[in-house]
Amino acid sequence: MTINIILLGPPGAGKGTQARTLVEERGLVQLSTGDMLREARTSGTEMGRVVAEVMDKGQLVTDEIVIGLIREKLETMDAPGFIFDGFPRTLPQADALNDLLAGMGRQIDAVIEMQVDDTALVDRISGRFTCGNCGEVYHDQTKPTAKPGVCDVCGSTDLKRRADDNADSLKTRLLEYYKKTSPLIGYYYAKKQLHPVDGMAEMDEVGRQVAAVMDGIGGR
Ligand code: AMP
Repeated sequence: MTINIILLGPPGAGKGTQARTLVEERGLVQLSTGDMLREARTSGTEMGRVVAEVMDKGQLVTDEIVIGLIREKLETMDAPGFIFDGFPRTLPQADALNDLLAGMGRQIDAVIEMQVDDTALVDRISGRFTCGNCGEVYHDQTKPTAKPGVCDVCGSTDLKRRADDNADSLKTRLLEYYKKTSPLIGYYYAKKQLHPVDGMAEMDEVGRQVAAVMDGIGGR
């Protein structure tokens, strides 16, 4: 049996953090279109250049590009299950994902909606940095590294801030979320696949709520 889930929520809701836990604890594979696009922008291609410009403004990259990236991963990777992190972000992307999975005899088993207050997102995002080596996520105020400039998990000093984690881009990213992504909440609710969790709770509590959803759908 395979398990495929979507993590849905605005930027800064904690999707990446929860995805990492699910990878570690349940052996699922994280498919983050944001990570794929950040990789594509360093490729030196024309596509990479266009992607970088759009991402830095906080706008959405075209459906065609992101659906292509997901298709390629699904066609080339085998896994007991996938966690879609930051995808789908539009209704056409959601339809395309259904079609792609159906073609593989798979389906979405649950959509975990991470609910957070808008006011918290600005604080969460503006202090955020990650380890470029292992991907651990930190925050200046709420989760600093024990030793300044050194990752607690792997000891790397390659700590990075995202180019789009600034107030201007965040404003556009939130608008894009409400205009284009939030309709997916109604879409998956109608399909009886939506499972809201309290993204404002402590990280461990959010993890417990996510785990309860996973256990409820038979995700080991
Ligand atoms: P994320 O890391 O998920 O916050 O994504 C960072 C940026 O990548 C977004 O602000 C968009 O510019 C782009 N992006 C990521 N995923 C998608 C998607 N599914 N559709 C369109 N653009 C995306």
